[in-house]
Amino acid sequence: MNVFEKDKKYVAGTYARFPVSIASGKGSRLANEDGKVYLDMGSGIAVNTFGAADEELAKAVYEQMLSFQHTSNLYYSSPCASLAEALCLKTGYKKVFFGNSGAEANECAIKVARKWGEEKGKTEILTLINSFHGRTVTTLSATGQEVFHKHFGPFTPGFYSVPANDETSLAAATSEKTAAVMIEFVQGEGGVNVLSPSFVSELFRLAKEKDFLVIADEVQTGNGRTGRYFAYEHYGVFPDVVTTAKGLGGGLPIGACLMGEKVQNVLSFGDHGSTFGGNPSVAAGALSVVNRIDEALLSSVREKGEYIKKRLTGKKGVLSISGMGLMIGVKTPFESAKVAKACLERGVLVLTAKDKIRLLPALNVPYDVLDEALDVLLSVLEEGV
Ligand code: PLP
Repeated sequence: MNVFEKDKKYVAGTYARFPVSIASGKGSRLANEDGKVYLDMGSGIAVNTFGAADEELAKAVYEQMLSFQHTSNLYYSSPCASLAEALCLKTGYKKVFFGNSGAEANECAIKVARKWGEEKGKTEILTLINSFHGRTVTTLSATGQEVFHKHFGPFTPGFYSVPANDETSLAAATSEKTAAVMIEFVQGEGGVNVLSPSFVSELFRLAKEKDFLVIADEVQTGNGRTGRYFAYEHYGVFPDVVTTAKGLGGGLPIGACLMGEKVQNVLSFGDHGSTFGGNPSVAAGALSVVNRIDEALLSSVREKGEYIKKRLTGKKGVLSISGMGLMIGVKTPFESAKVAKACLERGVLVLTAKDKIRLLPALNVPYDVLDEALDVLLSVLEEGV
């Protein structure tokens, strides 16, 4: 059996995979089993922060694994403590809980909000329509896209969704019962939709007035993706809780829930846990990623984002462009899946988000790779699919 046959036979059929098997890669170039090269504009859905075969990441993990690969959370270990310290010093958050995925990071944030709200009688968590917060039953309950809810009810109670960028609905939906509002500053899966500054400032005004928490889901937008360490920085606000994953591990499974001053002591002994959370090998790798996300890299991400927008703006087949930094959505008159398929046939891997083409290249993507990939995308859009 080849890889396609074997996967179809033995892997649960939850993914509509493209007909490509990735066998190797370097940076933003990936190769299939026959050596055909693809330019990677997706980086594993915003995961491979420094591209494929990132030597610093591999070295950090390898060295840790040769020392000891795992210990339970019954003991201390330096990589976990150092990664939490690096995140707190970079961002101003006070405490970090580590899990293994974005959904788990969000589960932790939800537990923080529930426990914080418990004594105050605050039981509701508001999210936004079109949001995506994960695939566990509770993060699905938080996800404001009906399409993901099919088949899996009954859901965790206490979640309500309001439209993004609608200040009136937000004001009407929040009350003394609101424990938290959870948002993506740029909705990823929902279509690369950027929150408006006025909506964000109204949210933070309401949070103060009605005493609820703001949770930023930075699973996709975090770790430099939008040209700031976290996307909230573009808005001059400071959420009470931030969740992140994806790019944090640069390809390793990790999620983190960062807690600010107000909630830093909400979770106490026995409230939460994870066998693999803060695993030394993964934490050592993540630390090597976080340490390289400095101002020079962030400003290059902002520049590359502007460069992509400039190259696409006004071109045939480009209806509009959204996003920040290296998180870009491109609306075209064509079905996004068909555009992605045509790009793939010409050696470029792009993602989709609803009706848009989504570009999430590695943060260190070289300009020549970007140019080559954009040439292909533009030629596909010019010819039509
Ligand atoms: N939150 C956001 C904003 C995401 O984009 C995702 C995944 O795409 C998740 C949560 C869930 O992350 P994971 O798939 O690691 O559980």
